[in-house]
Amino acid sequence: TESCLKAIDAADALNTFVHKTPEIAMERAKAADARIQAGDAPSMCGLPIGIKDLFCTKGVASQAASGILEGFTPEYESTVSQQLADAGSVMLGKLNMDEFAMGSSNETSVYGNAVSPWRRGNDDAELTPGGSSGGSASAVSADLCLAATGTDTGGSIRQPAAFTGIVGIKPTYGRCSRWGVVAFASSLDQAGPMTKSVRDAAIMLETMCGHDPKDSTSVELAVPNFEAMLTGDIKGKKIGIPKEYHMDGMPDEIEALWAEGRAMLKAAGAELVDISLPHTKYALPAYYVIAPAEASSNLARYDGVRFGHRANLAAGDGITEMYEKTRAEGFGHEVQRRVMIGTYVLSAGFYDAYYNRARRVRALIKKDFDDVFAAGIDAILTPATPSAAFGLGEMNDEDPVKMYLNDVFTVTVNLAGLPGISVPTGVDHQGLPLGLQLIGRPWEEGDLLNTAYALE
Ligand code: GLN
Repeated sequence: TESCLKAIDAADALNTFVHKTPEIAMERAKAADARIQAGDAPSMCGLPIGIKDLFCTKGVASQAASGILEGFTPEYESTVSQQLADAGSVMLGKLNMDEFAMGSSNETSVYGNAVSPWRRGNDDAELTPGGSSGGSASAVSADLCLAATGTDTGGSIRQPAAFTGIVGIKPTYGRCSRWGVVAFASSLDQAGPMTKSVRDAAIMLETMCGHDPKDSTSVELAVPNFEAMLTGDIKGKKIGIPKEYHMDGMPDEIEALWAEGRAMLKAAGAELVDISLPHTKYALPAYYVIAPAEASSNLARYDGVRFGHRANLAAGDGITEMYEKTRAEGFGHEVQRRVMIGTYVLSAGFYDAYYNRARRVRALIKKDFDDVFAAGIDAILTPATPSAAFGLGEMNDEDPVKMYLNDVFTVTVNLAGLPGISVPTGVDHQGLPLGLQLIGRPWEEGDLLNTAYALE
């Protein structure tokens, strides 16, 4: 813990930890020492970790990297961060992210962007660690903590993991409690671990999972010992290779990485099967209707009364002006864009044309996956991202769709509620990390982790 705290202070330039909690860390580390000495060490005893700023942490500022939550210090702890604390882990602080987890580069944060520890060859240009869990990815990759929590609504665990050479798993929707995690799009959001290895992910995920009476979408299902399932034996497993994930204009390096992943799984005894997920091309547009729709509803609660920031008002301003000014000041550009898209697609005149149609498309995407799993496929292998990490500032805010395209391989998994993992499997010609994604059957994270283990 002490060496992590020192490393964090020395790495301020990466802008990963936006609230440092050294006192809490030292207190928990001492308590962990005592438990170890007493021979009563739980699974993550003494392990220093970072917590994404989207998780509410009791007595510690939790702002979801938004100006509108300025000064908000929750009186309660999210279920997942509580489970991690109960397992003996040591919280070092809160990690940078895109505002309300909306973004793919960590550039929408009110704290400014986190920076990746990676560089392209000898070029000094700063790169994005990805988003929205960019602070988590950068901090784990730069060895500032052993692991971190992330959340994934459309790829926010898997894409930053791929960009920084670490492991990130989004569990099946309902595996982890969402209670106390600031909501972005409630039907898509899941928490998950971001770690240095598949084994670490297995250990941490087991701690984070489980039914929570405070989240009615969390399932009552036994949580297996995921670590014990890491045998590396994947003989006879059927791995689906979806033809729709060969995207036009995808760099040759990504195709080559994917081919390498296929070869590795085959060498480990798996059988490769060509499959089709015909509705893949509609996933991104459906996601960018459903996610903003849910976000606009979830974010209605930031009204200047209940949480955080309230604008200074002029004489004669009433409650409407208070809402307007507070929300205009408190929300950043991307969040405002999503709220506007969301309210538009949910509005009476357009609800059927956009939101309902997107929901129907979502059902078809889920059915694509159901069909291939019913046909005996155990897991699906795809690239995690269509490119390696891009430079900070390289994506233009005027053209948000370019940024959205980054999520092309990850959003399908959230729309279908499936577990997905990104495993670091290579580097590009400039030495930047690249990741492959494995998508698993619902509730079979153990099998998924074991297949990832064979790929690692
Ligand atoms: N990049 C996607 C978005 O901006 C996904 C974000 C996420 O998974 N939280 O919506």
